Amino acid sequence: MTETTLARHLRIRSCPACHHLARRMAEHFAEIQGRLSRSEEARGDYADEGGYCPLHTWQLAEYSSPRGIARGHGMIIRGWAERLDRLADAGDGPKTVPPVGPDSCSICRFLEETETGYVGAFSAFLNQEGNLEKYERSHGLCLRHLRQVLARPVEEERKARILRLAAHRFREIGESMAQYDRKLEDLKRALLTDDEKDAYRRGLVMLAGARTVFSPFLKGS
Ligand SMILES: [Zn+2]
Ligand SMILES: [Zn+2]
Repeated sequence: MTETTLARHLRIRSCPACHHLARRMAEHFAEIQGRLSRSEEARGDYADEGGYCPLHTWQLAEYSSPRGIARGHGMIIRGWAERLDRLADAGDGPKTVPPVGPDSCSICRFLEETETGYVGAFSAFLNQEGNLEKYERSHGLCLRHLRQVLARPVEEERKARILRLAAHRFREIGESMAQYDRKLEDLKRALLTDDEKDAYRRGLVMLAGARTVFSPFLKGS
C-alpha cells in the first residue's frame, strides 16, 4: 500500500478502509468465481474446504450466473453428500454436521487479513508528518475502522484530532440528513446539495461500515 494510494483514498466520499476492502472483496470474488468456472482443480479445492460461511456463499453467488453457480458448486455438493454418508456410517462417532462459519471460511480470513493490513498501513500513514492534515480534509473513517486505528500506537494528541474530525463529520452528515428530509418534505428536491443527496448512504457507512464488506461473523464488529 503506497502513500500515494492512501492519499488518493482520502478523496473518496466514504470511509477509505471500507472503500479499499469493498474493492478487494469484489476482485477476490470475481477471481474465485473465474477459477471455479474454469478449473476442475479449483472446484476440487473448494469441495475439500467444505465451503464458505453463509454470507460469503451468497455474496459469491452475486458474482456468478446460474450456470456458473451450477458448474462451480456441483463438486462441493457431491462432496457433502459423501461427508454426510460418512457421518451416518461413523459407528459410535458423533452424528452431527460440522458448521461452516468464520473459522473455516477462507473469505472471512481473507477479509480479516486485508483489513488488518490496511488499518496498519493507514495508521502508519497518519503518523507521518503532514498526513494528518490531509486526513482532516477527508470524509473520515467509519466507527469500526476508527476504533481499529485508535487501537494502534498513535500519539494521544493525534488520536484527539482524529476523534474530533470524526465528531465534525458525523455532525455534518447529521445536518445533511436533516436538510435532505426537510427539502423532500417541502418538495424542494432541486435545492438539494451533493452532500445532502448521499448523506443517507454516507451516514450508514459511518455507523455500520460498507454493506458489501461487513459480515455478521467478522470479529470485533
Ligand atoms: Zn470503514
Ligand atoms: Zn465468510
